[in-house]
Amino acid sequence: MQPILKIDLSTGNTEEYQIPKDWEKNFLGGASLAARLLYDSLTPELDALSPDAPLLFINGPLSGTSGPTTGRFVICGKGPATGLWAESHIGGFWGPELRFAGYDGLWITGRAVEPVYLWLNEGKLEVRNGVHLWGKDTYETQTLIKEEVGRKGARVATIGEAGEHRVLFAGIFCDHGRTAGRTGLGAVMGAKNLKAVAVFGKKGTLPLARSGVYAGVRSASNRALKMDNQSQVMHQLGTASAANYFEYMGSMPSKYYHQGGFEQVDDVSGAKLSESILSGTSACQGCVIACGRVVTLDDGVRRKGPEYETIISFGPNLLVNDLAAITRLGELCDRYGMDTISMGNTIGLAFHLYESGAITSKDIGGIELNWGDIETVERLIHLTAQREGVGEVLAHGSRFLGRYFGREEDAVQVNGLEVAYHDPRGVSGMALSYATSPRGACHNQSDYFLVDMGTTNEEVGIEYFSRHDGAEKAANVARHQDWRTVYNALVMCAFANVSPQTQVDLVNAACGLEWGVEELMRCGERGWNLKRAINNRMGLTRENDKLPKTLLEPLNEGGAEGYVIPFDEMINAYYAARGWDPGTGRPTKEKLESLELGDMVKDLWG
Ligand code: SF4
Repeated sequence: MQPILKIDLSTGNTEEYQIPKDWEKNFLGGASLAARLLYDSLTPELDALSPDAPLLFINGPLSGTSGPTTGRFVICGKGPATGLWAESHIGGFWGPELRFAGYDGLWITGRAVEPVYLWLNEGKLEVRNGVHLWGKDTYETQTLIKEEVGRKGARVATIGEAGEHRVLFAGIFCDHGRTAGRTGLGAVMGAKNLKAVAVFGKKGTLPLARSGVYAGVRSASNRALKMDNQSQVMHQLGTASAANYFEYMGSMPSKYYHQGGFEQVDDVSGAKLSESILSGTSACQGCVIACGRVVTLDDGVRRKGPEYETIISFGPNLLVNDLAAITRLGELCDRYGMDTISMGNTIGLAFHLYESGAITSKDIGGIELNWGDIETVERLIHLTAQREGVGEVLAHGSRFLGRYFGREEDAVQVNGLEVAYHDPRGVSGMALSYATSPRGACHNQSDYFLVDMGTTNEEVGIEYFSRHDGAEKAANVARHQDWRTVYNALVMCAFANVSPQTQVDLVNAACGLEWGVEELMRCGERGWNLKRAINNRMGLTRENDKLPKTLLEPLNEGGAEGYVIPFDEMINAYYAARGWDPGTGRPTKEKLESLELGDMVKDLWG
């Protein structure tokens, strides 16, 4: 990989940093390499919103090569809501552009005296005044900066007002709605007075060890991916393609995870979106799937359409079945720069508390919360981004909201990150995915619901278990997490149904390695355990590996009716499969050493 540029916003100093070769080999790139690079900085004492907190934008070894879904990058640091490891993946074109500009990472620390933005133009960095951009939304900011730097081809990653106001689930956005939404790294960026990072580079030769071999594998794998059935469905119907099926299984949350089905699911399905408001598709750099939706509403404006998580967040979760309204609510969050999963989940909790009598309109500035009331949802989004009235409480996320009103146990979150819209009562493997994810309740560290629906992979030993099996699938979940950690190290999109052998061929050609599938999987396991070690050092224990109360209770109707997740048995079996110490929740000394993570033994075991 190319060097990383370190930037201290407090002093204006910069330094080129060469990634140690053995770290590149052991961790490949992306989130795993970022975890190794940030390991020493992520201490329990570190305040995620302080100048000392690092913010690392980083590529993978395949970024910008037009390999299958490799036009992505990842942003890492410490989560302000979770106090744990934070990583947030994002598509678009920014990551490849950074690579063309001569770097594979930007490692930002410090705090500027007043708002600034960074302009990296063909390897030359400027820290520019950004006072006039403070308060602008994520779309306006991108347009204004492109005009200012005079490069139409520049790519801009930016925060909106939510990041400026340090909303704890603010994200970082680029390329018209591409989103590093989760874990609140937009707040970290805002706390640094950093509005945006613009990059531009010359499209030249990329650092590939065997470029001729790589070109052949790239073409063949892209052809196969384009013809793949899952890719075709994603292209035609978007990520909400399976919404109806999820609802049928009881895995699509409704009414803040309290209702087992949603009668109007056909109104919000991927098929309905395609038949009604869809006017085009969009893709990240080099992607042959193009899952992005472009829609046209009554005003005639073509705009980003919502993906599955946003549809459920502002749809069935709040008992809304109006796709146009959901689109507008999603756009509002994008413009403010907020994660739609956490926003919808937090609003859902507020509605739930209101309905159950735990809060009244007097507690929340006279607002009444009635399920399905779109105007109220919109108002709460504005208040949250501006941190006004009840928005000041909502801006801290659902765990804080619950705690504030004495009902923390009602918040559907794990370790401070809101659960995504794949209910583990419908697909039980997600119970372990959420409980053990290194960044809080996350569906991207392991989208195991696909395995519970039948997507197996013999090459890496991922087998099928019934969607309501328990402990017997624990080792399979761990294996799946390891494989997805490979994806997150390559910064490859999880929507790409690429075979492990193809990944190995791409990695070997790009990095000059001679690996097989097992070495690739071992690299995944190493990354997973490294993130665990970081979290253990920051205070995470076995007590943190749990599910919220709501998800441990049965639903009264639908495809998951009556099912109770055997969570204790599952987590015990998971620990055994992982080789983690059941008392402390830490990887054992032997496990760390077997994964060449011996450096961490002293920190974890003295
Ligand atoms: S599948 Fe969708 S999100 Fe993934 S790289 Fe392609 S366009 Fe981007």
